[in-house]
Amino acid sequence: MESGVGVRECIEDYLGAIYRLRVAPESPLPLSALGEYFGFSPVSIHEMVQKLSQQGWIHYYPYRGVTLNARGEAVALALLRRHRLWERFLTDMLDVPWAEAHEIAGTLEHAAPESVTERLSALLGDPVSCPHGVPIPPSKRTYIDTCLRQAPLGARGRVTRIAPESGDILRDVQGWGLLPGRQITVVEKHEADIIVQVEERLVSIPVESANVIWIEVL
Ligand SMILES: [Zn+2]
Repeated sequence: MESGVGVRECIEDYLGAIYRLRVAPESPLPLSALGEYFGFSPVSIHEMVQKLSQQGWIHYYPYRGVTLNARGEAVALALLRRHRLWERFLTDMLDVPWAEAHEIAGTLEHAAPESVTERLSALLGDPVSCPHGVPIPPSKRTYIDTCLRQAPLGARGRVTRIAPESGDILRDVQGWGLLPGRQITVVEKHEADIIVQVEERLVSIPVESANVIWIEVL
């Protein structure tokens, strides 16, 4: 870790990742999930986690994983609010492609002070979700959804969100036409992929991707 701004960004990235990846606030997120997300070695993840725990941002339960404490949770929520508002600005005001907005917002999210973030929100009409369907804190989900991988055969539903987002998965999802709001039907389920009908098309979704596509079963 370097000093100054780099350290703050690095801490924010970790806290934001824990928030995005965790299943529930109180269930520890395994360090392997952070390793996979960042593409870092177990050793460097472990080192960073120990630092974050010593500095009072997270709880670390050896062999089980990490949870955010109240201080870490507040930083994560503020970061995700900035991230998702910038995504909206990029797609809605600048016509940046849907899949690219996430990556660009990953840089902008660290830069803006709170006063600018709030002006941005007002400018955008205080949106409640990012372009990928994910709620912008303090907004919360107003529906119950399930990830596509768990959806039963024959289920019909509406795509609610893509979470957690990554540039690659968003590009794939855009290609498949599974944008939030689209109606889909689960037509076939196999070990490696799930076939869904989107409008008149049938598309094959690899099961790993089906883990991050969420639908509200109708
Ligand atoms: Zn998003």
